[in-house]
Amino acid sequence: MKFLTLAGNGRIKEQLSQRRELSHAYLISGPAGSGRHTLARLLAAAMVCEGGDEAPCGRCTPCKKVLRGIHPDVTVLSGAGEGKALSVDQVRQLRADAYIRPNEGERKIYLLERADQMNPSAQNAMLKLLEEGPGYAAFLLLAENPGGLLQTVRSRCEELALAPVSPGEGERWLRARFPDRDEAELCRAARDCQGILGRAVAQLEAPEEGRARSARVQQLADALERGTELSLFETALPLEKEDREGLIALLDALAAELGARAGRSAHRRRLLRAEDLIRRLRGAAQLNGNAGQLAGWLCAGMFLEQ
Ligand SMILES: [Zn+2]
Repeated sequence: MKFLTLAGNGRIKEQLSQRRELSHAYLISGPAGSGRHTLARLLAAAMVCEGGDEAPCGRCTPCKKVLRGIHPDVTVLSGAGEGKALSVDQVRQLRADAYIRPNEGERKIYLLERADQMNPSAQNAMLKLLEEGPGYAAFLLLAENPGGLLQTVRSRCEELALAPVSPGEGERWLRARFPDRDEAELCRAARDCQGILGRAVAQLEAPEEGRARSARVQQLADALERGTELSLFETALPLEKEDREGLIALLDALAAELGARAGRSAHRRRLLRAEDLIRRLRGAAQLNGNAGQLAGWLCAGMFLEQ
């Protein structure tokens, strides 16, 4: 099986190419923008493809339907409400649906978003379905943090952990996707996204937003490199309003910018201190989304004697 349209991630492609048959349950993990939905769609297409060894061929009718998101036997499920995971009631409905035979093909495929955020009772209902569900049903569990799943659920799934893509691979992939963009723009997007191509795509598809973000990264880097405590505080204050995903993407781009400046700056020690702070902050942001007090924390980190 070939999964060529997925960027990078040679290990996953290798793992899947060695299989003659696909599992009935996968746990696809990685940060937002790392390609979880792309991989899930390709897997679902492979499961219904009529292209034999070439699955997912991308050319047969079932493949095309899956890739366009209109195949009646492929269902994407998320919780009720923005950012919510499936509830136990929704898993029970899913279970009832799974026992209704597929419409068009031999398989019925469910793509579950935020599986790691389901509560234990929803996960236990899911576990029963994984253990006892009909043979034609397949489940693709998407997760940011696979550790959030119960071990019993995890052990029923084949794990596919998406990794950041190298800058070279990222640039190649972006060039194919955005053939009319200039080289410098693609290069910058590949660097700023730190291997998470979904971010680069978002930046290139919404150039206004991308430009605004780049400008903010430059302002923050300027303030960290040579600004006063007050200017750093004022520049950093809007960060506290970012949601977790936005904050992490911004911090990654900022760390890359600080690293690029460190080699040629007269303020090298300040830049290294800032880079270290930003990396620690990024770690904290990943654990809990709360960015309150962030501007004060940055000022203290930069201006208080250690
Ligand atoms: Zn096909």
